[in-house]
Amino acid sequence: MKSVKIGHLEVPVRYEQLDAAMGIFHLYPNPAIAIDKKVQKTNMEFQVILHESIHAIDRLYKIGLKEKQVCVLKQTLTSLIRDNPKLIVALKK
Ligand SMILES: [Zn+2]
Repeated sequence: MKSVKIGHLEVPVRYEQLDAAMGIFHLYPNPAIAIDKKVQKTNMEFQVILHESIHAIDRLYKIGLKEKQVCVLKQTLTSLIRDNPKLIVALKK
């Protein structure tokens, strides 16, 4: 996945060797998501991208989420998307 569109921003997704995390959202110098290369092409990849996208939304819109809240949102949004295909189809229109 090359980028994630968040609001009007196209946030690039880069695959790097990370030591302490599976993913990181950088706000500076430009918004970007870094994903650990070990996660790429595994069933964790999109979960990590979603997690970092929620961090991106939090920082870009100055929400002030705590890590636990980001984790809960990742899990519940994953279920919402997976369990409600009609909702996703309707939102794409
Ligand atoms: Zn996090």
